[in-house]
Amino acid sequence: MHLKNNRPKPTNGFYGAFGGAYIPELLYPNVMDLEFNYQEIIQEPSFQKEYQQRLKDYVGRPTPLYFSEKLSKKYGANIFLKREDLNHTGAHKINNAIGQVLLAERLGKTRIIAETGAGQHGVATATACALQGLTCVIYMGKVDVERQATNVQRMKMLGAEVIAVASGSQTLKDATNEAIRDWINHPTETHYVIGSVVGPHPFPDMVTIFQSVISEEIKKQLKKQTGKANPTHVVACIGGGSNAAGAFYHFINNNKVQLVGVEAAGHGINSGKTAASLAKGTDGIIHGFMTKLMQTSDGQIVEPHSISAGLDYPGVGPLHAHLFTSKRGQFISITDKEALQAGLDLTKTEGILPALESAHALAALYKLKLSKTDVVVVNLSGRGDKDLTTYLNYL
Ligand SMILES: *Cc1c(COP(=O)(O)O)cnc(C)c1O
Repeated sequence: MHLKNNRPKPTNGFYGAFGGAYIPELLYPNVMDLEFNYQEIIQEPSFQKEYQQRLKDYVGRPTPLYFSEKLSKKYGANIFLKREDLNHTGAHKINNAIGQVLLAERLGKTRIIAETGAGQHGVATATACALQGLTCVIYMGKVDVERQATNVQRMKMLGAEVIAVASGSQTLKDATNEAIRDWINHPTETHYVIGSVVGPHPFPDMVTIFQSVISEEIKKQLKKQTGKANPTHVVACIGGGSNAAGAFYHFINNNKVQLVGVEAAGHGINSGKTAASLAKGTDGIIHGFMTKLMQTSDGQIVEPHSISAGLDYPGVGPLHAHLFTSKRGQFISITDKEALQAGLDLTKTEGILPALESAHALAALYKLKLSKTDVVVVNLSGRGDKDLTTYLNYL
């Protein structure tokens, strides 16, 4: 993972008009420490050796690139699935969690904090901390602690302390506020592991680098399987946008590859119950960065809705806001129902039960105009065991 000069990266922390570091004065030392060190540490041979070894022997990488004959026949194109669902802990989030925890160790940190909504990022972070033997504190809204009891148990078994946040709406954004407060109060020994390509610079870039292993592998695997390293389309769902950023990364500078990001429309983009931040959002600042944001005219955050917890975020990473505004990327919204149907279809036809998040990416295949020679890679970000009850309720 050598960081080439021409890699897709922010300029002074900005992707076009989006990104930056809009943070309170008190957070400056923490964020500057990262900013000055992250690129150098990530390129150190000893870091790379340990990270790559963990990805291979612990996470189970490379994940397969699976050619789906049935989807190919159905859509009249060559459809491949990148199997991030086969990672240890069941999704792509572990790529980033392990990367950041290893980086934190090299920064001399001994304590890790993170925020989590549904608990997926909390579990990935607690897993990485168990592996490296670091103290782990997870902030989670009180409502989410009650809704996601199994993931809370898992985090505790992994040795993490889970703090139920009782302020505000007692969900993700309140947990994020508490985690930021904790970081301000413990600047020297603590690293804050953010779970997607969001937050102040350098988090979006750092998380993108850790997830870029996805497109690095896609290139090699496609070359081997088809003779050509570049697909015509890469399709990925977007919550904050980390699995999409990783799947797009090595193709961003090649305009022949269409980048397709899939947002959660919820009940429909005009229903008032949606998480389609690009379709419905306006420019605004959330969690320390400028992006497209679902907000009222006076700047209050509009509560997002999606059937999949991982896509239930009112903003989107700055890279995606830029790909959207510059029209380099194509963005599609998929409703709860369309995602559920696509997930059930894949389960029945291929024997793969996808996470509801990933099912949004699969459903987007219906909306693309594809031809016989097209080579389409869908990033299957995670497995659907966690969503079983939701699928069953729909049936
Ligand atoms: C968390 C999650 C997502 C959404 O996060 P991104 O940062 O947008 O990738 C997507 N899929 C799965 C399986 C997840 O757990």
